[in-house]
Amino acid sequence: MADLRVKQRYAVIGAGWAGCAAAMELARAGHAVTVYEAARTLGGRARRVEREKTVLDNGQHILLGAYTETLRLIKLAGQDPAELILSLPLQMRYPVDSGGMDFLAPRLPAPLHLAWALLRAKGLQRADKLSLMRFSTAMRWMGWQLYNDCTVSELLQRFDQTDRLNRLMWHPLCLAALNTPPERASARVFINVLRDSLGASRRRASDMLIPKTDLSALLPEAAARYVEQHGGAVRTGAKITALHALPDGRWRLDDADSFDAVIVATSSVQAATLLQGVRDPRLDDAITRMQAFTPEAISTCYLQYDAAVRLDLPFCALVDAPEQQHWGQFVFDRGQLDGKQAGLLAVVISASGSAAEQGHGPLAQAIAAQLAQVLRRPELARPAWTQLITEKRATFACAPDLLRPGNASGVPGLLLAGDYTANEDRTQDYPATIEAAVRSGVAAARVVTTAKAAKQT
Ligand SMILES: Cc1cc2nc3c(=O)[nH]c(=O)nc-3n(C[C@H](O)[C@H](O)[C@H](O)COP(=O)(O)OP(=O)(O)OC[C@H]3O[C@@H](n4cnc5c(N)ncnc54)[C@H](O)[C@@H]3O)c2cc1C
Repeated sequence: MADLRVKQRYAVIGAGWAGCAAAMELARAGHAVTVYEAARTLGGRARRVEREKTVLDNGQHILLGAYTETLRLIKLAGQDPAELILSLPLQMRYPVDSGGMDFLAPRLPAPLHLAWALLRAKGLQRADKLSLMRFSTAMRWMGWQLYNDCTVSELLQRFDQTDRLNRLMWHPLCLAALNTPPERASARVFINVLRDSLGASRRRASDMLIPKTDLSALLPEAAARYVEQHGGAVRTGAKITALHALPDGRWRLDDADSFDAVIVATSSVQAATLLQGVRDPRLDDAITRMQAFTPEAISTCYLQYDAAVRLDLPFCALVDAPEQQHWGQFVFDRGQLDGKQAGLLAVVISASGSAAEQGHGPLAQAIAAQLAQVLRRPELARPAWTQLITEKRATFACAPDLLRPGNASGVPGLLLAGDYTANEDRTQDYPATIEAAVRSGVAAARVVTTAKAAKQT
């Protein structure tokens, strides 16, 4: 039977990772897509910035082997993940004698890699190892599903996790994955991430992936090339201020172009503003849900040292002890990722509201002092320069039973994409991450193309 589908004209507002994913999916399906991005640089909350004449990111990111959609699109856009991303086995390693632990999964098939890592882990006692084993057995038995959501702290308490495990493993993992402290974080979403990484049948799903290139180059700019090669257009410095529903069901953006459908791929705050302007009561539910999100900050402190400075590992965890002014949670040696960044360290603080209150100068100084002390390298107390970037609205607080809007806004032809949208199946809900954004973008594109195709037949 002949394909009766007509090529549609679609607009995507926002070229973060969700918007880029949506645009690629629409272009791949043969539609005409135009992307409007307010900023000059593509990538949104995961993008390149330039400071001190150095190419940095707005925040140090880490991806997981479980980010299957992100990795698929990076390849589809013509990029080679093996060249652009450092892939490390699952690990939680602290500097020697810093009061931490050393947990490193070997390259063995899953779940043997975890059993081996646990057996060999240093800094954990028998009781810690047994409680971790019990937790993971119980999760497998429960099919990694939680029918009633609760906080991560409650979940850990329910499964008798020891204080040491909570402090050295669960607390930092929860902060890194959900950017929300365990006492406020959703256990259901945390379990979804654990299932797809630690619990996956493929060992590589638990790998930790660190981009060697800047984040805009990793996907968003390659996505823009892909869209343009498929006949689409990407406009930067193009902020959309109003969406107008036309009587024929099409949409006009500001006073210019009109489209068969629009995917709003901005952050939830910006999406709520755009949707409010449409003045359609069918959008009220989505707007109310978006307005209920509370933001969580992430700070990244870059510290430049002499090019000869190198850490023992590409990245390691740090014991987070704010009462001692030890705010840093992870440190990355950028020089081991990119030769041009020799001597550059990036220290990450998730859920960084209280840390950021210290002020840029004092916080950067405290981080340099923490590195010097825990790594036992006094020279690290005196960086040549520091750059502290705090993204106040890095993610939404991933609370239990959070009501998230879906891709369908409630009005035909108007779709939502972004790290905040809900999945149709709650067991697939992710925290605000690159993978959540990419999955949401692809899903929104599929929803709109399927709806249009159904209308045509
Ligand atoms: C510091 C930091 C560290 C993080 N660390 C990690 C990590 O380690 N791992 C991980 O997976 N995730 C991490 N995240 C989360 C991840 O970056 C985000 O979840 C993801 O980038 C969100 O993508 P998005 O496309 O949904 O939204 P956004 O990135 O917010 O994209 C929205 C885009 O829309 C544009 N826009 C807004 N309004 C308009 C308008 N009116 N007209 C046109 N364009 C508009 C914006 O400029 C932006 O480019 C981190 C985030 C931050 C900030």
